[in-house]
Amino acid sequence: MPEGDVVWRTAHRLHRALAGRELLAADLRWPSLATADLAGRRVLEVVSAGKHLLTRLAASGGEPALTLHSHLRMEGSWYVERTGDPRGRRSASGTRAVLTTREWTAVGHKLGMLDLVPTTGEDGLVGHLGPDLLGPGWDAQEARRRLLLRPDRELGAALLDQRVLAGVGTFYMAEACFLARLTPWSPVRDVQDLPAFVELLHRLLEVNKDRVEQVTTGDLRHGRHNYAHGRSGLACLRCGSTVRVAMIGEAPQERTAFYCPGCQRGPAPTDDGRPQRPLGHVDRARTTRTSYRTRR
Ligand SMILES: [Zn+2]
Repeated sequence: MPEGDVVWRTAHRLHRALAGRELLAADLRWPSLATADLAGRRVLEVVSAGKHLLTRLAASGGEPALTLHSHLRMEGSWYVERTGDPRGRRSASGTRAVLTTREWTAVGHKLGMLDLVPTTGEDGLVGHLGPDLLGPGWDAQEARRRLLLRPDRELGAALLDQRVLAGVGTFYMAEACFLARLTPWSPVRDVQDLPAFVELLHRLLEVNKDRVEQVTTGDLRHGRHNYAHGRSGLACLRCGSTVRVAMIGEAPQERTAFYCPGCQRGPAPTDDGRPQRPLGHVDRARTTRTSYRTRR
């Protein structure tokens, strides 16, 4: 799933292609928006808010300024192509939006959400978000305040909650927990230095927002980009223990959480479903299992 850095980069790419230009056509293949007519509207800007994308359109013909809101959810993407390029991919199945200007065409593929609202009503779509890790108004103090509202909550679940802070998905959650040496099921209050931890999250997204690779180890070599996420069954780069994966959060919104039982202290799911303190050593007998479920 695209996280805040990917969405930020998508917004910048769309902004460079569309801002200041007039829409010649807008084909929104979305049931509720099928009749929307955006032709003639000028694109003011495209910005990200956490994992949400906001394409702001100027007022036109007495109609108010509008915002086209989209969310990539699991597998969505926006790409840009030259208008009229015969190699364009816009006819592909999965296309949900096509915004055409004279020079560039932006194509939204497999988008998870698409809404059109007056710009003054954006709050109804993104007003619930916590501080945006890559937003111009990033507020670390407010992020810390929101994390501490529920100090007993599982750290991983809190980080994935976009109302707490916006932009973290399962990748940065797993990596931040690894770097803090706490399992994702540890309570928030176990973070020893919360200001430093929040700053770490901010820095992880900042350093990765301009590149395709997501690197949390500082090591750009293949297979060494990150510590925990997506590495279940592999040896931990730091201690050699086998990295594991389990679910976190409440059904049906459970998400995967990768962790190293050697490096990270705190509760973790076990075979019988009861969270317990990991032993902190390599338990090879259980490395064939790839998924555990935790009981709350
Ligand atoms: Zn380890």
